[in-house]
Amino acid sequence: MPFDDIVGNARVKNILRKSLLRGRLPGSLLFYGPKGVGKSEMALIFAKALNCLQKEDDSCERCSLCVAVNKNIFPDVIRINAEKDIIKIDQIRLIRKAAYLKPMTGKKRVFIIEEAEKMNDEASNSLLKVLEEPPMFSHIILTTDNFFSILPTIRSRCQTLKFAPVSRSDIRNALIEKGIEEGRAKTISLLVRGSLKQALDFDWDEAEDVRKNAFNMFSSFVKGGKTANIFKKYSRMQKKSFEENFNPALEMISSFCRDVIVMKLGGSDRFLINLDYKNKLSKLEKIMGLKETIDFLEVIEESLHLFKRNAHRKAIMNYMTINLMERENV
Ligand SMILES: [Zn+2]
Repeated sequence: MPFDDIVGNARVKNILRKSLLRGRLPGSLLFYGPKGVGKSEMALIFAKALNCLQKEDDSCERCSLCVAVNKNIFPDVIRINAEKDIIKIDQIRLIRKAAYLKPMTGKKRVFIIEEAEKMNDEASNSLLKVLEEPPMFSHIILTTDNFFSILPTIRSRCQTLKFAPVSRSDIRNALIEKGIEEGRAKTISLLVRGSLKQALDFDWDEAEDVRKNAFNMFSSFVKGGKTANIFKKYSRMQKKSFEENFNPALEMISSFCRDVIVMKLGGSDRFLINLDYKNKLSKLEKIMGLKETIDFLEVIEESLHLFKRNAHRKAIMNYMTINLMERENV
């Protein structure tokens, strides 16, 4: 994939291409921004462009070096990923050893540390030593969706580039281009909050089940069901399946909530995320007041925020129970 095929984040793309043309390349870069917006793809294209035999500010995707990087057999582009959720010092030691040597076959050696927030303290401190004595022939690119979990001393030694969520229209167009029907493409683009990756991986049938369950949960909340009972199923789940099930359910509930607000304000149908649920939603809309709906949305959004910050399951559920109980006690 060359730069031109990356959807969204044109600003970052331009900065990188300009620096390639000018030959003024930062030794270390930190790409940060939400999940699924193309940080790793951008890092890999940058690594290819640095080495490409045909193009200066992009990857040609045809020369032997571009092809080798794509096949993951190019010795000078090294990707480092977490093993069992941790990036350990041994993986960073490899950078310390290789970074100061001339590249083997390419022009530049590039290390891409993906999900850099997963470096443990030892690994971070070891990387810091490399950044303190920048190697001549190597570039280090870190990617993260959690900027503040990277050591400030590492952040300050990297050129930081912020990635934005991909716009809804860009996501919708990418999906339509992939052959997804327009109505579905619109719904998906509204649900994935700027994550192109999530949009492209979206399984409509699976999502339909999640949406159905989420609607039932939302409806129970609105009708004043006992929060603890509604959560019963989720509280028994293992950590991983809780994350895989509860987070998307909350995203969907948030989307229903937004729809109710649109309906309350008399907005046009084209602003509805779940247009096919309009009839069902209008029944709930009659029960809920506007302020109450906004308060409810706030609780859901804060819970999603807690998720993002890896809060413990119990903390998320307690937060929701306490804040949604007020409704039950009215
Ligand atoms: Zn090339």
